[in-house]
Amino acid sequence: MESVRNGRMLPRLSFGFRGAWVSMQRGGHRGRIPTAIRGVFVSSSNDGGFGVSMGTMFEVGAALLGACVGSFLNVVIWRLQQDEPSKRSLGGRSHCPHCGALIRWFDNIPIVSWLVLRARARCCRKPIAARYPLVEALTAGLFLVLAHWPPFGPVGSLAADGHLDVDPAGAAAFGLHAVFLSLLVALSFIDFDTQLLPDVLTKPGIAIGFAAGFWPGTAGMIPDDAALTPAMRGLLASVVGACAGGGVTWAIRAVGSHVFRREAMGFGDVKLMAMVGAFLGWQSALLTMFLGCIFGAVVGGLGALRGGSSQIPFGPYLAMGAVVAMFLRHPIVTFLFTTWPEWQRDSSAAPFVLGGTALVSLLLLFWLVRRARR
Ligand SMILES: [Zn+2]
Repeated sequence: MESVRNGRMLPRLSFGFRGAWVSMQRGGHRGRIPTAIRGVFVSSSNDGGFGVSMGTMFEVGAALLGACVGSFLNVVIWRLQQDEPSKRSLGGRSHCPHCGALIRWFDNIPIVSWLVLRARARCCRKPIAARYPLVEALTAGLFLVLAHWPPFGPVGSLAADGHLDVDPAGAAAFGLHAVFLSLLVALSFIDFDTQLLPDVLTKPGIAIGFAAGFWPGTAGMIPDDAALTPAMRGLLASVVGACAGGGVTWAIRAVGSHVFRREAMGFGDVKLMAMVGAFLGWQSALLTMFLGCIFGAVVGGLGALRGGSSQIPFGPYLAMGAVVAMFLRHPIVTFLFTTWPEWQRDSSAAPFVLGGTALVSLLLLFWLVRRARR
């Protein structure tokens, strides 16, 4: 974590509302925000003009942005699945998938329109799937969490004199992490529908991940060599992360298809994990793989219990693992490597808990395999 912080020691730029652009923070002149405007946007206490704190306003703004991005992701998810090249374009206005009528702007407001129209299209009264507002709400929620717990540190801070200091590295990390979350949402739903993770999203995703590693350094920094610039060390961390994520997935895929004699994972999963590693670094990529396997096993197990197919797309669970690894890496790693071993050493109940868990897992596995053979 220390190394990540190093990347943020770049000079901070200061933005004032009076002059659109003000000089560097250290030693430079600082612009003051006119009182009238300050009452609306920020104030020197934590309380804004409407009794809303700056942080809350930022979070609400992020959630609204997320809902709009989610609306666009619905388009991406739908159009990338079309075979006809003319329907794959992401430009142009939205049309009703049933009758082809142009959807008007007031019927295209994220979440709200679906509620107002009571899940029926205005043009032909055909049902609108609940998935559209769900994708919008999910993206809004993820952006809200990103604004509340920015994994790279805050986007800006409020100085005592009411001046808003935007941290360029924090703002860039926010934007790039938002792109990362959006890619994960789109890829998950496309994988659910088609069992494919399209290259047109994963490959640019890897490239954007490298850019995020170069600046502001979302993947951390390696090696600890002062001779290299922070940008180079960040980019190296990103490249190593992509190799670790992609490599481990590729190895599991090779072993899995040898043991089970069928394709356990697609090559799309390898590229998805390379993207995760490029954005988050090798440690989080490994944690993502670990969490993705747990989530996939739980959902696959539940599916087998209900008698459904045990063949599940792996992408959505890897994406879930990546989101959890992004926000909760430190508490999880502390638990796994500090809290848990300490408890195991000190508690007399530990051998029984471990033995019991192992036995239950084995019985469950045995039972699932028997069920699958039938
Ligand atoms: Zn229609």
